[in-house]
Amino acid sequence: MTVSVWQADGKQPVREVDVLIVGAGIVGTAAAVFVRRHGRVPVITEMRDVAQGASGRNAGFMITGLDAYAISERTHHIWHELIAAHGVRFERIGSMLLAESETEA
Ligand SMILES: Cc1cc2nc3c(=O)[nH]c(=O)nc-3n(C[C@H](O)[C@H](O)[C@H](O)COP(=O)(O)OP(=O)(O)OC[C@H]3O[C@@H](n4cnc5c(N)ncnc54)[C@H](O)[C@@H]3O)c2cc1C
Repeated sequence: MTVSVWQADGKQPVREVDVLIVGAGIVGTAAAVFVRRHGRVPVITEMRDVAQGASGRNAGFMITGLDAYAISERTHHIWHELIAAHGVRFERIGSMLLAESETEA
């Protein structure tokens, strides 16, 4: 692998971290929470800012997946715990899933 001249001189600051997480979207920040809960020290590197990717642009629905119901139910428990712990605004408004055919129903 070739490196630029400034990389080749070996004088760049090096910071050692316990656990490095790339990206401060919902996945990276959630990973940081769990890493912390396990007594490790996470550091997140983010090229823009917190939730500037998909996590800050989505529709905000907390719906359960059909293919992985058990895991999404578990995820909902975690979200509710975090919502309560951090005073996040949340409204339970329900959702309706319609089947277009007998097979889908
Ligand atoms: C229009 C839309 C609507 C959606 N609606 C819903 C919904 O209603 N309900 C739902 O549950 N899901 C919804 N989703 C999906 C949901 O938003 C995503 O699955 C989720 O936000 C993905 O999270 P993430 O942390 O993986 O990615 P992101 O939130 O995109 O985070 C990735 C982060 O990594 C950073 N990054 C990338 N590369 C680097 C790098 N090399 N160095 C440093 N940082 C880097 C980015 O800047 C970004 O901040 C929707 C998605 C979209 C696009």
